[in-house]
Amino acid sequence: MPELPEAETIARDLDRRVRGSIIAGIRVARPDILARGNSATTLSRKLRGHRIERVSRRGKNVIIEFDGALRLVVNLGMTGRLIASDAPRSAEMRHVAALLRLEDGRAILYDDARRFGRLDLRDAGRWSQRDAELGVEPLSDSFTGEYLFRLTRGSISPIRNFLLDQKRVAGVGNIYANESLFRAGVRPTRRARQLRRAEAIRLADAIRTVLGEAIEARGTTIDDYRDGNGDAGAFQLRLRVYDRRGEPCVQCGTPVKRVVLTNRSAFYCPQCQR
Ligand SMILES: [Zn+2]
Repeated sequence: MPELPEAETIARDLDRRVRGSIIAGIRVARPDILARGNSATTLSRKLRGHRIERVSRRGKNVIIEFDGALRLVVNLGMTGRLIASDAPRSAEMRHVAALLRLEDGRAILYDDARRFGRLDLRDAGRWSQRDAELGVEPLSDSFTGEYLFRLTRGSISPIRNFLLDQKRVAGVGNIYANESLFRAGVRPTRRARQLRRAEAIRLADAIRTVLGEAIEARGTTIDDYRDGNGDAGAFQLRLRVYDRRGEPCVQCGTPVKRVVLTNRSAFYCPQCQR
């Protein structure tokens, strides 16, 4: 499931490849991937002739920014792929959920096997609303250990769940929450408000390090994720606890444990994480 490093990788790839391009047309084969309030007709009418000024990221979303302060907010859901194609073949085009045709003959394809992703075109006002709903960017200067310490006060959620709440910290999902908790030596089941200051500082550092390394590795491909060029990432080879139930801890050899917290697996070393 694409998280911050995957969305960041896609955004950088697309920015490099399609910045400055003009939209010639839009085709939506699967209207269920459009967010409420959007339709294929309005998307085409509002975007045709507009120039892509930049492709950026906020949380787990890829943001295609157009002139006129329009933004196409792409939430990749579970299996969403956003790929720039130099020569879209007709066969390929038949299977994509949506396609943005560019004036130079290229295209941006949105493909989503399970279709939990959403495309949402927003003007400046509706974008600031959405932006304000999302929490702090963990790679920004505002996200310090002290900030995380204060943010966790008063929350009785297990720290793993706390980190997944996009209203608090934007972009961290299950893979990177588990990996960061392992590196910080904090057990995923601990209540957020019980973290000590020193642990919050270690955890904030670990989050930044893990996300940075994952961006460098171009994301984690376990099943579906592909970058903006259609290629797999490499961070799955560097996971230390995620999806490693029963395998020896990389630090101490103790078998990695799995617990289920609110229907989603958490992985930890019972020896290294307290
Ligand atoms: Zn261990």
